[in-house]
Amino acid sequence: MSEKNHYEGMALATRAVHVGGESDPATGAIEPAIYMANSFALPYDPSTMNWSASEENIYTRNGGVNQGKLEHKLCDMHGAEDCVVLASGVAALSALFFSQLKKGDHVIFSTVTYIATYRIFHELWNDKWGIETDIVDCTDIEKIKAAIKPNTKLIHFETPGNPTLCICDIEAIVKLAHEHNILVSVDNTFSSPYNTRPFEFGVDFVVESLTKYINGHGDSMGGAVLGSREDMDKVRYQAQVNIGGVISPFNAWLIQRGSQTFPLRMQVHNDNALAVAQWLERQPCVSFVAYPGLPSFKGHELAKKQMKHGFGGVLSFGLNGEHDLYNRVVTHLKVFTSAVSLGNAESLIVFLGEDDERMYLYPEEFHGGFYRVAIGIEDKNDLINDLRQAFRAEGLETVD
Ligand SMILES: *Cc1c(COP(=O)(O)O)cnc(C)c1O
Repeated sequence: MSEKNHYEGMALATRAVHVGGESDPATGAIEPAIYMANSFALPYDPSTMNWSASEENIYTRNGGVNQGKLEHKLCDMHGAEDCVVLASGVAALSALFFSQLKKGDHVIFSTVTYIATYRIFHELWNDKWGIETDIVDCTDIEKIKAAIKPNTKLIHFETPGNPTLCICDIEAIVKLAHEHNILVSVDNTFSSPYNTRPFEFGVDFVVESLTKYINGHGDSMGGAVLGSREDMDKVRYQAQVNIGGVISPFNAWLIQRGSQTFPLRMQVHNDNALAVAQWLERQPCVSFVAYPGLPSFKGHELAKKQMKHGFGGVLSFGLNGEHDLYNRVVTHLKVFTSAVSLGNAESLIVFLGEDDERMYLYPEEFHGGFYRVAIGIEDKNDLINDLRQAFRAEGLETVD
């Protein structure tokens, strides 16, 4: 994080291209090198070194060169003091939770989160590590207020949430939490720093799955946790060095490379998803559309306040029809691929059936099953036409 930032005050589009992507000083190559070395030459007298330190080049599990460049860039994108990049979004989530929580602490987390967050807080850490947790509808500030206990240490949520797209009021949650000395962490993966910079609303921590929009090409995994220098030192020392979910230098390099076009791509994800959502909403065969950019969506007004350039690339929708209709429609799609994940150049669709284990946590309209769609950066008319022909192939009623 020691590199000088020449691009201070410039627009994100400029900073995304330049920050962390400086020329290689050894050769003059205009793109950064990949430093695959797992270890670094030690000083004359290594005997006094702290082998768990991250601030010097010792061993790549303590911190790699390409990792450091990416951390520098993400701090810049988020306006954060410090950042730790790890092997995946889930490694970043668990490193944050591991470094902040201890036995006896209580955590409030949202009904709508990534599945691993649910597993950690609902199934794994309670018994293993004596962490108390409550699943709370974090779109309702009164419900959060009612769930606060003397030992509440952390409130964790996503906005928009995966997969219902529900919107939580970041500023209101931060105000309530800080009145009670509670920390706030936001998983910002769906919104990305292009649309939302949660530190502007006072949160303590931001987590991003870099696997998604920031890398953007569906070809590597990574995760970031951002916060104060003191807290990130804890993440490095406790979780990165001693649990070891480090990112490979090659993946850090790929993500740095992909992130150069991130603002450009994100605007297309925003525009395409809005167009597809608006089209879907008009279709007689569609039972509901969840997308924060639609005025009919419950969190729309709040989303307008918290999301700057658009509403992200993910939407969910239901069909008027039975379980297997969802599977049959997917077989007709030519542009969309049936696969999990999001933030790739290509559009992806996944069917979540009525028996999904967390369906009881979602609003009523989701209960019959639904699709989660990650809109890519293809031409938006091709995406709409693809959905239309797939609906028609199953005899579903559509309009233009
Ligand atoms: C994908 C995702 C994660 C997990 O990230 P990985 O890189 O797959 O480990 C966490 N949170 C959200 C909201 C996600 O969509």
